[in-house]
Amino acid sequence: MTTYVYRFSDGDKDQKDLLGGKGANLAEMTRLGLPVPPGFTITTEACRAYMRDGRLPAELRVEVTLAVREIEDTLGRRLGDFHEPLLVSVRSGAKFSMPGMMETVLNIGLNDASVKGLTEFSGDERFAYDSYRRLIQMFGKTVLGIDGELFAHALDEKKRTVGAATDVDLLAQHLRELVEEYKEIVRRESGREFPQHPREQLDMAIEAVFGSWNTDRARLYRRRERIPNDLGTAVNVVSMVFGNLGETSGTGVCFTRDPSTGHSGVYGDYLPNAQGEDVVAGIRNTLQLAELELLDPTSYAELRQAMRRLETHYRDLCDIEFTVERGKLWLLQTRVGKRTAAAAFRIATELADEHLITMDEAISRCTGAQLGQLLFPRFDPDAERVLLTRAMPASPGAAVGEIVLDNAQALERTAAGARVVLVRRETNPDDLQGMIAADGVLTARGGKTSHAAVVARGMGKCAVVGADELLVDHAAGEVRVAGRTLRAGDVIALDGRTGEVFLGDVPVVDSPVMVYIADGLEAGLAAAEDDETRSLLVAVDRVLTHADEVRRMRVRANADTAEDARRARARGAEGIGLCRTEHQFLGDRKRYLERLVLADGDEERAAALADLLPLQRADFVGLLEAMDGLPTTIRLLDPPLHEFLPDLTDLAVRVAVAEATGGADPHDVQLLAAVRHMHEQNPMLGLRGVRLGLKLPGLFALQVRAIAEATVELRRAGRDPQPEIMVPLVGSVRELQIVREEALGVLAEVGAASGVRLDDVPIGCMIELPRAALTAHRIAEEADFFSFGTNDLTQTTWGFSRDDVEGAFFAQYLENGVLTISPFETLDADGVGALVEAGVTGGRATKPGLKTGVCGEHGGDPESIHFFHDVGLDYVSCSPFRVPVARLEAGRAAASREDATA
Ligand code: ADP
Ligand code: MG
Ligand code: MG
Repeated sequence: MTTYVYRFSDGDKDQKDLLGGKGANLAEMTRLGLPVPPGFTITTEACRAYMRDGRLPAELRVEVTLAVREIEDTLGRRLGDFHEPLLVSVRSGAKFSMPGMMETVLNIGLNDASVKGLTEFSGDERFAYDSYRRLIQMFGKTVLGIDGELFAHALDEKKRTVGAATDVDLLAQHLRELVEEYKEIVRRESGREFPQHPREQLDMAIEAVFGSWNTDRARLYRRRERIPNDLGTAVNVVSMVFGNLGETSGTGVCFTRDPSTGHSGVYGDYLPNAQGEDVVAGIRNTLQLAELELLDPTSYAELRQAMRRLETHYRDLCDIEFTVERGKLWLLQTRVGKRTAAAAFRIATELADEHLITMDEAISRCTGAQLGQLLFPRFDPDAERVLLTRAMPASPGAAVGEIVLDNAQALERTAAGARVVLVRRETNPDDLQGMIAADGVLTARGGKTSHAAVVARGMGKCAVVGADELLVDHAAGEVRVAGRTLRAGDVIALDGRTGEVFLGDVPVVDSPVMVYIADGLEAGLAAAEDDETRSLLVAVDRVLTHADEVRRMRVRANADTAEDARRARARGAEGIGLCRTEHQFLGDRKRYLERLVLADGDEERAAALADLLPLQRADFVGLLEAMDGLPTTIRLLDPPLHEFLPDLTDLAVRVAVAEATGGADPHDVQLLAAVRHMHEQNPMLGLRGVRLGLKLPGLFALQVRAIAEATVELRRAGRDPQPEIMVPLVGSVRELQIVREEALGVLAEVGAASGVRLDDVPIGCMIELPRAALTAHRIAEEADFFSFGTNDLTQTTWGFSRDDVEGAFFAQYLENGVLTISPFETLDADGVGALVEAGVTGGRATKPGLKTGVCGEHGGDPESIHFFHDVGLDYVSCSPFRVPVARLEAGRAAASREDATA
């Protein structure tokens, strides 16, 4: 029989699939002997059974009974007891933390009778009724689906009528009345009484947690984070401890290191006489954790010890939820904490310095996406700026956008192409859509652990929180600050690093990490404005240096011009993986190609080619000079023909109009005939790549000659150019063979004429058609290297054209789960990836050690890079901007594989 219920003493941190993150870590803390209230976890398997059958498994009820009785016996208290009632919380917890997705219900077990027992047992009637009203409120909202505002409103009303400034000023009698009002709300809104039977409360709450797995909000979050929909959530049932038992009690959140900078120290928030979410909900202003030392030195010392213990155990930054009940510390949750990008690099290197982790582990903890964030530009400190206010920098970045005040505005304005900043008094899970749409988030309330801060950090989005000078009037649609009244649509700028909020657009400059990447550590350190930044640069440099040491794959860049090539090289590119020569034929030079296409006979064509030669040669000299000593893959002309010819309709109209008014230009007439003749229904699948080269004799030979002559010129000058000639869109080995023979002929001829050796110039091809991947063993006979063009390979494998389909139906495909992410962003490993793998295997079966790489955009995508490492590619090539990210990810891929085999 399946076991659906695990005691905390039964599990451990490696059972996240079954127990969820929260449950697994509660079990781990219990095993470590830390003070965790007794409880148990209902597995994700039970949730999956519930989703399958639409009801709780029958055995589950029995198992829950046994587990509850065990807690009752341990604590000597019973659920629903008239004297000493046991209360529990019911908490969701999936494998991946999903902040705010499924809300916890506290104080389950209270009813009209046991609330008296709780009064008696605690000696505090106010506390007992406060707990009861919280139960009805949370249960009503989360389990019965009643609008939470109704309860919040009744609470505010009560505070107003009795003149209480905050919730702690309400007396027992007020809370007793509030309980009755809450019960009335439940009756009115749900058509039923608030359930009095504790077991019914428990079962309903458990079922509600399972049900909440499939709310729109949860689905949205999962889609964004690419968490599979079929994992299910676990449920944790935990005996209650009370932070709202007066001034010697309280609740808090802490981090073993600062999650925004990474520095070790005491970071967290504490709120006396409070329960559960109070501390993050921004209802009262929290104390800094260090202040707990004055209030309750014993609990503080114990907490510090637990923090150290957990950080040592997890060997990483931990985030911890705790409660103090009348001077006794309880731990309610821990997990490896989310952190900003800067913190990730500092923490990883500091832990390595403390010999808690190896450098391989250190690089595995800094992601390419985090490095990417550090490369974002920031506000120019010298620009003129109007400061509106300064608040807590909760998540770094620089965001400029129109103010939006709710989800609807955020979605509407971003759909219209605007960049927006979501401004709210505080955020809660209902604001998720708006947060996703926005470039930045600004709240008037809440601290570093508030919902807005935590979620924004998780999304890598800029956030400034707790701006208490900001008056957000949602009803009036206004934001008042610094004597100004702003409305939706007004532009503001947020600095997530300093917490500053500016009016209007503020110009941006390179980040210090970008300066380091482009110009080296010395330059970066010199440009850095403070120690904080300098320590970050040193950390990034150490991580990247280690990644460079351990990675197997080389990282090249896609660059078409000498200038791009130099930029890529400065960022650590070890070659050019793709130079698109078609970019050298745009603009003015278009007419050369036009001439070539229209050429009547060999002579005219030869003349057109002869004019092109010096231009192309100069292009290649520049490129090869910039990449001196490094491999430089030059792709022969690839794009669809129509890109070089005038538009058929335009031209036809022009000729028709001219003819009607007295005779068209003969050149236009001739051109129109040619364009008509060559017009394609489906140019992407038409005369492109090698096909064009074979159709227009002399074109590829010209390009090869230009490469050869550029190489000769540089070699004679004592330089070390390393060109590689790449043939695009090959589908059959014979195509490659024809081009190769011609190219070898040209190389031999130029070599003989100049006396400079050119027989070392490799000739390879792109693998970007399924047929090429499937016949790679044949193609390899003629190829010195393969480069996978995964953009085209994705299009041709799926049979769709990127330009046409992305806007047309991708949103729907992501919605209904046909796709979890665009296959143009992250390689579709199962389909396109299988062809890449077949290509590598086939090619190397013919030529062991055949050099292989990838030059599609995927070469800069973290997940895809790990795939390419796994299938044994020699290099990835990506845009110059992504080079540092690719270096790091290639290193992480190598380091984590070694971990796995060690
Ligand atoms: P989330 O996943 O949103 O963090 P939690 O399940 O951790 O939700 O619970 C919400 C709040 O209630 C947290 O502050 C947590 O510490 C508190 N809490 C949960 N269970 C208990 C309990 N048994 N006793 C006291 N506080 C609890
Ligand atoms: Mg929690
Ligand atoms: Mg292509």
